[in-house]
Amino acid sequence: MVPSLEDLHALGARQQPSYDSSGGAEARDAAIAKLRTLPPLVFAGECDDLKTKMAAVARGNAFVLQGGDCAETFSGVTADNVRAKLRVLLQMAVVLTYAASVPVVKVGRLAGQYAKPRSSDEETRDGLTLPAYRGDAVNGYDFEAGSRVHDPARLVEVYHSSAATLNLVRAFVTGGFADLRQVHAWNTDFVKESGIGQRYERLANEIERALTFMQAIGADPDEFHRVDFHTCHEGLLLDYEHAMTRIDSRTNTPYDVSAHFLWIGERTRQLDGPHVELFRHIRNPIGVKLGPTTTPDDAIALAGRLNPDNEPGRLTFVTRFGAERIRESLPDLVEKVTAAGVDVAWVCDPMHGNTFEASSGYKTRRFDDVIAEVQGFFDVHRSLGTWPGGVHVELTGDDVTECIGGGEELLEIDLAHRYESVCDPRLNRVQSLELAFLVAEMLRQ
Ligand code: PEP
Ligand code: MN
Repeated sequence: MVPSLEDLHALGARQQPSYDSSGGAEARDAAIAKLRTLPPLVFAGECDDLKTKMAAVARGNAFVLQGGDCAETFSGVTADNVRAKLRVLLQMAVVLTYAASVPVVKVGRLAGQYAKPRSSDEETRDGLTLPAYRGDAVNGYDFEAGSRVHDPARLVEVYHSSAATLNLVRAFVTGGFADLRQVHAWNTDFVKESGIGQRYERLANEIERALTFMQAIGADPDEFHRVDFHTCHEGLLLDYEHAMTRIDSRTNTPYDVSAHFLWIGERTRQLDGPHVELFRHIRNPIGVKLGPTTTPDDAIALAGRLNPDNEPGRLTFVTRFGAERIRESLPDLVEKVTAAGVDVAWVCDPMHGNTFEASSGYKTRRFDDVIAEVQGFFDVHRSLGTWPGGVHVELTGDDVTECIGGGEELLEIDLAHRYESVCDPRLNRVQSLELAFLVAEMLRQ
């Protein structure tokens, strides 16, 4: 049985909004009651499909690409924005699939990624201290007192924004946009300006030739015309995730129907904490972020609690050690988890261990560090005989300037030019595609 929301909160939840101080306890209950009446955003059967695919990842037969914003925003729910993100993810997936001949499981970090854990409760600017921004699910980004109040009505807006995004994504992936015949179309407005666009164009030409050949011999499978696309976000806000947890009528078991895949963040993965307690009960495929302080015993205990039956595809460990630590710290973890017989998919988040503040004050990441962490991840798994199962990246389909380096050689001085993230710095479109080509090479080796 799923524990009650009160029982979960009684476990001492970290990183939750405080509506009491803003007089919002009643409004919180109303928002939760409203959420409980709203239809599921995803179906339990779709979550099971993804679990089957993640089992293939864990076995070494597929590679998962997870990507999207660090924090989605309500104002970012526009057709252009969603299409751009989807387009870059589809391009990356095609590069990985074609160049490495490995099935790619596509999971968008979108349609629900609205809540952020923060290392500090407050933020100070020019002598003014206000509550930290915790994502549009909790408060506003604008740095003024009214906007930073934790407002429970936002939880319902998370639902509606997720529904609108998901509706568009579903239409795009089944309605022709994701047709492999569109490989060139995804790249228009991009080709001429960049070397990476041209490299992609050559690959698209090869794919087109292969498709034409397939069609000439009479093969035109459904897979050429649509893709399976899934959603994920950090399951951070207990009020929201609990309200979205429903009993599946087919199996009589609970699923969190706010997304196909949910993960527990690095800051909320306490073994006896409420996030682990909730996730233990839902049947979705789930992940846990593991930072550099994770001991092998921590990871084994988490697996024991979250996946006691060792169900294939159920559990993914997303490691985020940082380029400097990964080669020395990951081997012991992977070795001992494997020796303990834990069935898990290993995914690399090369973003969160590589964040630093530029002299101009912008939070940024170096493209080279991102690649170095992925390379370290591959090397460690290859040397241990385990499978580097995927990457989890923060990216956008737009030409932002948030991470430095890459083929465009963005410099610290360029960050101010187009820094749009409300939270962590994302790879832009060029950098994302470059990453895909580099990862494809690592997969091929
Ligand atoms: C994130 O994925 O945006 C995040 C906060 O990650 P982590 O929990 O690994 O720090
Ligand atoms: Mn982030």
